[in-house]
Amino acid sequence: MIIRQGFKFRLGASDVQSARLRVLCGHARYVWNQALEKCNESADTKGAYVPRYETMAKWVTAWKRAPETEWLKDAYTDNLQQKLKDLDAAWQRYYKKIEGAQRPRFKKKGQSRDSVRFVNFQKYCRIENRRVKLPASLGWIKFRKSREIVGTIKNCTVGFEGGHWFISFQTEREIPEPAHTSTSMIGVDMGVARFLTLSDGTFIEPVGAFKANQLKLARAQRALARKVKFSANWQIQKAKINRLHTRIANIRRDYLHKASDRLSKNHAMIVIEDLKVGNMSRSAKGDQENPGVNVKAKSGLNRSILDQGWYEFRRQLTYKQAFRGGEVLAVPAHHTSQTCPKCQHVSPDNRTSQACFRCVQCSFEQNADVVGAINIKARGHRVLACGESGLPDSVKQEPV
Ligand SMILES: [Zn+2]
Repeated sequence: MIIRQGFKFRLGASDVQSARLRVLCGHARYVWNQALEKCNESADTKGAYVPRYETMAKWVTAWKRAPETEWLKDAYTDNLQQKLKDLDAAWQRYYKKIEGAQRPRFKKKGQSRDSVRFVNFQKYCRIENRRVKLPASLGWIKFRKSREIVGTIKNCTVGFEGGHWFISFQTEREIPEPAHTSTSMIGVDMGVARFLTLSDGTFIEPVGAFKANQLKLARAQRALARKVKFSANWQIQKAKINRLHTRIANIRRDYLHKASDRLSKNHAMIVIEDLKVGNMSRSAKGDQENPGVNVKAKSGLNRSILDQGWYEFRRQLTYKQAFRGGEVLAVPAHHTSQTCPKCQHVSPDNRTSQACFRCVQCSFEQNADVVGAINIKARGHRVLACGESGLPDSVKQEPV
């Protein structure tokens, strides 16, 4: 099987190289935004239709000829093409309603993560010890090589995050088909009050630094609101907020990696709920008929991990399991928190509070998230045993 892996390092670009990278990012942003505007017009007037990559590529050729945008001639063509391919893919994901896909948005200078991608690495780039040679008049750039790069580099991306340039090498390598060293199976409940609860009754809590930085961010944002927009002090505060966002994203990624590592190392089969983040966000807020319970707790720390972490977590689990020869099984999420694992009685009354489960029929008691995880695992067993959807007869599945 083929393993794809990314290796990310801090890039030591000189002032001249940094300036050039900023220009390249600017070109990419310009092309993305211009193409997006034309796509938006099409999407809003012709229904769910936007031009595909081949058409967009022709726009770029035209822009390079137009006198007001002829500075695009100085751009790195491969990078522009790559941005258009990304835009095309983003629209396709959006229309096909692929997990978590949002409508493509305009990129603002300094706000969205700027990046340049160099494709066809083996042909156009070179790597030597602790430096890499990049095209587009960049030349040799040093990077902080903190670990060995394994596999053949297919492409690389240079991006600006939290005040520094980073380079990420995407590699591929062939490995023999693995067999998981464990035979165990576990159910995982992802929730708002507790991000990850396992069917063996344990929890994986987020690190404390996450909460501390979230509080810091809230304070910094209040301070920003008090400053005169676009003033020097406002700019400084804005930069501070961007750095905090990067730090929080790093802590979140780190937490998700540790959690997915632990699960993947210990269990051949990981059963998760096949849920959509949108549904969970709604259930936290509630609606007019069913005002949300415990809204404050739900909207806090874990909400933020949940919103931005669910698809990432599933992605990590899936590739780590593939790497180890294990599997991830997603089962329907309905009633996993209301079904009694002992007598199978389904009732919302079983759930006495956010944290507590007590079966109204057989009096079985347990932490509600643990009950969820146990039911998810049981549903996984049924799906594997007889291919059923894992739903009790009384429950109808929502149309997809
Ligand atoms: Zn019961």
